[in-house]
Amino acid sequence: MPIDATLPYDETNIFARILRGELPCKKVFEDDYSLAFHDINPQAPLHILVIPKGPYVSWDDFSARASEAEIAGFVRAVGQVARDAGLVAPGYRLLANVGLDSHQEIPHLHVHIFAGKKLGPMLAR
Ligand code: 5GP
Repeated sequence: MPIDATLPYDETNIFARILRGELPCKKVFEDDYSLAFHDINPQAPLHILVIPKGPYVSWDDFSARASEAEIAGFVRAVGQVARDAGLVAPGYRLLANVGLDSHQEIPHLHVHIFAGKKLGPMLAR
């Protein structure tokens, strides 16, 4: 079910539980501000999720409330994960769903990194 991105942060969401170590993940990167791991249901040959460690529902919430350090750390982490995976030359796609119309399902900000094939049109037509 898509989530309403205007609701307060829910500490029980799956990514909060992964951050607390209550659920496993296939980690590819971690620093003070961010965690990156493989999507459990990949939509491309490579499908990585990058999340900030702070409690932010969505890109909207993060861009409004996060500190400069959190924002810089997270944006740099997304770039580093893609670089470390060798994706700059072949190319990749970033996607962040926000709320109902985008069908955001997990109410903790995550940026999808898709790669490993020609990704086709940006949106389903
Ligand atoms: P959204 O639709 O919210 O942008 O994307 C949520 C993503 O989280 C989906 O691609 C889904 O496969 C992924 N996901 C859902 N539950 C889990 C989980 O427990 N572990 C991992 N690694 N990914 C998950």
